[in-house]
Amino acid sequence: MTAHLGTRRLTVVAHPLVQHKLSYLRDKDTPTVHFRKLVNEVTLLLTYEATKDFATEPHDIETPLEAMTAQRLHGKKVAVCPVLRAGVGMLDGVLSLVSSARVGFIGMYRDEETLEPVQYYAKLPADLEERDAIVLDPMLATGHSSVAAITAVKEAGAQSVTLVCIVAAPEGIECVHEQHPDVHIVCAAVDRCLNERGYIVPGLGDAGDRLYGTK
Ligand code: URA
Repeated sequence: MTAHLGTRRLTVVAHPLVQHKLSYLRDKDTPTVHFRKLVNEVTLLLTYEATKDFATEPHDIETPLEAMTAQRLHGKKVAVCPVLRAGVGMLDGVLSLVSSARVGFIGMYRDEETLEPVQYYAKLPADLEERDAIVLDPMLATGHSSVAAITAVKEAGAQSVTLVCIVAAPEGIECVHEQHPDVHIVCAAVDRCLNERGYIVPGLGDAGDRLYGTK
């Protein structure tokens, strides 16, 4: 489902494979080893949707049987920018589809008291203005860290930004679209709300802890 509210774009991928895998991500009994694999698989499927408007151009080739005109991506260059640390768990999912992408990292942690993001690291490709940026942040909760990451990517030159997350809260979607109405958000689910600690409910818990087994 893709919703257009003015220029605002939100795609919730309802594909059965995505929803099946998401159910295991949500399950508190899913072990780290499976969680990690599922995050990559869901991200691959979300990337398929996130890139579906990439332009193609005709290209003359010869199959073993005859000449034909096939479609290839129209000079599309991609920069994938995971937000540390949980976004890194999504990186291979994108790279397995867009293997030529450049990768930039944005270090962001959430101050547990203010819930505000603090950027502590950024290393982004130099030619971001020539690339479509895909920002990876699995949990779009308050939206503050995603907004800060998108701002960093735009300040580094990105003209086109897509945010791929796994679970989004309505508050986070609103926050991102308020600050960055041009950003296309692609996710697997929009959950009910945030709890008093800023976690998405029902959600899947702390994505970083579940990816890296730190709790
Ligand atoms: N970050 C997470 O990892 N999970 C949430 O529910 C919210 C923020």
